Amino acid sequence: MQPPPLPSPDWERIKQRFREQAQHLGLQDVAWTDASPAATLHHYEQWIEHGYHGEMGYLGREDRLLRRRQLEVVLPEVKSLIFVALPYWPGKFPSAQQDPTHGVVSCYAWGEDYHDILGRKLKELCRWLEQEVGGKTRHYVDTGAIQERDLGKRAGLGFIGKNTMLINPSYGSGFFLGEILTTLPFPPDPPKRTPSCGRCQRCLQACPTQAFVGPYVMDARRCISYLTIELKGSIPEELRPLMGNLIYGCDICQQVCPWMRFAGDGPSPLWGSPPEEVTTPKLLALMELDEKAFLERFQNSPIRRIKRARLLRNVAIALGNAGDPVALPILQRALCDHEPLIQEHAAWAIRTIRRKYT
Ligand code: SF4
Ligand code: SF4
Repeated sequence: MQPPPLPSPDWERIKQRFREQAQHLGLQDVAWTDASPAATLHHYEQWIEHGYHGEMGYLGREDRLLRRRQLEVVLPEVKSLIFVALPYWPGKFPSAQQDPTHGVVSCYAWGEDYHDILGRKLKELCRWLEQEVGGKTRHYVDTGAIQERDLGKRAGLGFIGKNTMLINPSYGSGFFLGEILTTLPFPPDPPKRTPSCGRCQRCLQACPTQAFVGPYVMDARRCISYLTIELKGSIPEELRPLMGNLIYGCDICQQVCPWMRFAGDGPSPLWGSPPEEVTTPKLLALMELDEKAFLERFQNSPIRRIKRARLLRNVAIALGNAGDPVALPILQRALCDHEPLIQEHAAWAIRTIRRKYT
């Protein structure tokens, strides 16, 4: 005699229990979709073909493209994707952002590296899922070869703005996005009606380096986030004056976005109100950091990832843009730094300041 068929799991109930676990970990939102590839993958491939990814050559590697096309390569028998959102956007930015003697650090980097924070939460959720329900899982935070913004949109977390960000109509785009791949066949969330940018163009107009080729297409090679974080070598001279005092990342195309008003007006839900030395550090103090002091100061910060040479390269540019001769002695000393990258950008800053006064 055939054994009776097993009852099919109550997926909606499991989703609800998963949501409760996620909320308990401080995650704002959870959404499910199936594991088919993103319909917009060809846009991404065109973006790579244009070379807009710059030095981030790994993005165009064939093995990574294959994983974007077939999530089964990442996790065999994958059936569903679960997206989670962890908001971090502060309602107010420090006034020292307007002071050219201070550097501006992008607000996503005002605390511990988000890969670590969100990675720990996802790991815990994966463990819960495997123990309580079964299946196999993998999780990613921004590091997997996955079309995460587009798939997050498909799951219902928001819409893609002209600034290329995933924008949630209830809390804007200032959130970290993480995803779990699972072999469990969750039913996808029903499609949501989402708004769009409409006729707004604020982000395209506000970008200091004109990094947007057009709506929804950004040339990373001109983006200050790429230039200050990803680019390892020298920053193109024609872009340096446009960088102002931005020394690690750039929030401008999100700051001007009208949807960000829904992020609230309080402190960052993740970082609180960090001190000035974190959000808008004094440029001269940064320029004096030696290797040991750099490592101590940025021990748990994502800034540690770019190492001292890249940070001081960025700081030298900001000092040049500030144009204050008080920086000249410290920039002169940087000409003898053991890092050629720092020497070169310090020399540029000295020339820039002197030009202002001759
Ligand atoms: Fe432009 Fe800054 Fe947005 Fe990059 S992050 S596209 S530089 S506004
Ligand atoms: Fe869209 Fe305007 Fe926001 Fe840009 S600033 S993403 S155009 S709503």
